[in-house]
Amino acid sequence: MPELPEVETVRRGLAPALEGRRFEQVGITDPRLTRPHDPLEVARELEGERVTKVDRRGKYLIVRFESGRALLIHLRMTGSLRHANAGELGEDPHRRAVVTLDDGSDVAYRDVRRFGTWLLLEPSDVDTYIDTRVGKEPLDAAYKAKHLAEKLEKRRAPIKAAILDQRTVAGVGNIYADEALWRAQVHPLTPANELTPDEVRALHKGIRASLQAGVRRQGSTLRNYQLPDGSSGTAQDRFKVYGRGGLPCGRCGTPIDKIRVAGRGTWYCPTCQMYRGAGVGSTKRGQRRYAASSSFSRPSRSRRQSSV
Ligand SMILES: [Zn+2]
Repeated sequence: MPELPEVETVRRGLAPALEGRRFEQVGITDPRLTRPHDPLEVARELEGERVTKVDRRGKYLIVRFESGRALLIHLRMTGSLRHANAGELGEDPHRRAVVTLDDGSDVAYRDVRRFGTWLLLEPSDVDTYIDTRVGKEPLDAAYKAKHLAEKLEKRRAPIKAAILDQRTVAGVGNIYADEALWRAQVHPLTPANELTPDEVRALHKGIRASLQAGVRRQGSTLRNYQLPDGSSGTAQDRFKVYGRGGLPCGRCGTPIDKIRVAGRGTWYCPTCQMYRGAGVGSTKRGQRRYAASSSFSRPSRSRRQSSV
């Protein structure tokens, strides 16, 4: 699934093509895209809207219009957007929508698995809709470690599950969660509220660093993600742990291990990211327990109680 770096890369690619342009003609061919709203009705509403800004919040792409309305696009698993000059759009069986702009160029939306969504919001609904679903932007200068600490202090869920929650911090998905935890040297199963202040600071730094690395490399190209000009990102070539099971850790040389956390494949270094979920002195026990069951995703009841 595209995460913050991928969506940000799409935003940067689309902004010059869309900003200042009017949606002249809109065709939405997949009712799932606008569900529960009628795609024909949404298309009609979009026609005539002039784009002021292409924005992003977390994994949402936000096309803001002069009218104050906004089109919220979520790419989910396999959505992608492509900008093409007039008449240059080829055939594509997975195309779900096309917007023709007032300069004759087209923006096409393709989605193989069809989980992506387009939602047109009225001016008064835009901020509320987003703010109830998405936490702070991790790459904003104003985003500090204390903001992360506030979100984690009452969470007993494994830290990885906590940072996958978009209300904790915007835009972190499975890939960058693993990358951030490796950078912070925190085991993905550590209960969120048991991170030390130093670990929270390290994780805050790790989240920003891993996302910035992704943005610099124009996102990672896995599955169907593509840039609006049809090219690919290269962040996947520089992952520290994600997808690197059995390969040596770049910091200590230990083979990277894979477990499941919150139902998601999770890569980490067993040496750099020691499990110490039940406080001081329990590291070895925690590790053994964890090693015995590669699929448990939360600490045992007794461990949770002992941590209170
Ligand atoms: Zn290591």
